[in-house]
Amino acid sequence: MKVLVLNCGSSSVKYQLFDMTNESASAKGLVERIGIAGSRIRHNKVGDEPVVKNAEIPNHKVAIKLVLEALLDNEHGVLDSLDELTAVGHRVVHAGEKFACSVHINKEVIDALEECVPLAPLHNPANLAGIEAMMEVLPEIPQVGVFDTAFHQTMPDYAYIYGVPYHYYETYKVRRYGFHGTSHFYVSHRAAEILGKPVEDLRIVTCHMGNGSSIAAVKGGISIDTSMGFTPVPGVIMGTRAGDLDPQLITFLQEQDGMDPKAINHILNKESGILGISGVSSDLRDVEEAAESGNKRALLAENMLYYGVRKYIGAYAAAMGGIDAIVFTAGIGENSITARARICDGLAFLGAVIDPEKNNIRGKEAVISTDDSSVKILVVPTNEELVIARDTKGKMAELK
Ligand code: ADP
Repeated sequence: MKVLVLNCGSSSVKYQLFDMTNESASAKGLVERIGIAGSRIRHNKVGDEPVVKNAEIPNHKVAIKLVLEALLDNEHGVLDSLDELTAVGHRVVHAGEKFACSVHINKEVIDALEECVPLAPLHNPANLAGIEAMMEVLPEIPQVGVFDTAFHQTMPDYAYIYGVPYHYYETYKVRRYGFHGTSHFYVSHRAAEILGKPVEDLRIVTCHMGNGSSIAAVKGGISIDTSMGFTPVPGVIMGTRAGDLDPQLITFLQEQDGMDPKAINHILNKESGILGISGVSSDLRDVEEAAESGNKRALLAENMLYYGVRKYIGAYAAAMGGIDAIVFTAGIGENSITARARICDGLAFLGAVIDPEKNNIRGKEAVISTDDSSVKILVVPTNEELVIARDTKGKMAELK
């Protein structure tokens, strides 16, 4: 059974083809710069060198046709015929309160996702463009939507309602949704497997730290709280996103600098966080380097990030009535030895003690706490594409 996983952004399509008989990926790639000059597809048959082809790619439909051509290519392809494809799984950012799990996509689902466009104006239109393009190109292949927000739909109301008048929730669905759900789900459940314990018995704090970062409290395998909110801006500071703020700051800046909502959005999403504080870069590697050579603002950005994550771990330990494991994932969580060490420094009072030797790894699964640490600390590389492929396979079984 072969499943194609698509992650469609506004100007890009990431793809991966899975053989679900053994859950292996046989090809992956990226279509970039859709609709702008210099568009290209980078295709990688697993085990071979990647190949790059420049082409005019005005829209998602052309992008998807190129993906299918690459998969069928005589030299670099992995399919003899499109008949081998069983289904397509799509990453979709926002499903609002509509879907708490993955769904087979039909007209009603598309309408529901369109209703969620105001909640994710940058992401959902691109995800929908990918779904619609795929439906045009291969109308007979079933498609499944897997949502970033779905895993967090189990949060209790007191964790997701904001302290503004309740009618804003009723009218505009203003509430905490949370994101990176597929990743928090995957790494928490994988951590339980690594620890050899039922996930139902565990209280886990998952730290997804990449360009965007979010922390989640996963109790008994379900999300009970998470640091991102109505949008992916709040929580800890990120590459260019601000993280938690006093909301009154917005009106203050509007009054002081006469900024309109668009300008404020730009600052909160693109000019803040690690970049805005350090003035060096949004990339933590550059900031770590600058801090080491004495750049004080780079050090401040690092300190803010590590302190912020540590505070969330403490808060979520309290929310869950204790903690059994802390899991690090995504670019920073999987690779930054310094970030993990500094975040966990001072968590011994919770029973979480990192082992510096074991922590000296990048990008692979490992338990990095000391043997007598009662809270286990793990690195688990995330695999959102595999979750999407698994859910797609699961939906196909239900359809039969
Ligand atoms: P995205 O959210 O875009 O998927 P990633 O998960 O790829 O992002 O994470 C990107 C972040 O990971 C960047 O801040 C980058 O600096 C950081 N990162 C990657 N490798 C390392 C490393 N070896 N040391 C420190 N940070 C790293």
